[in-house]
Amino acid sequence: MRPESEHTGRELYECFECGERYERGGTCECGGELRHLGRSRDL
Ligand SMILES: [Zn+2]
Repeated sequence: MRPESEHTGRELYECFECGERYERGGTCECGGELRHLGRSRDL
């Protein structure tokens, strides 16, 4: 069971090709690969 406070830190991903950021992994709209940056709360 997790406390609600841990729900604030979301995973963040950035595209290798164009620098676009997403909150999910996979492939960017430009076709580039998304790399995992970690949680977004400190950015
Ligand atoms: Zn991209």
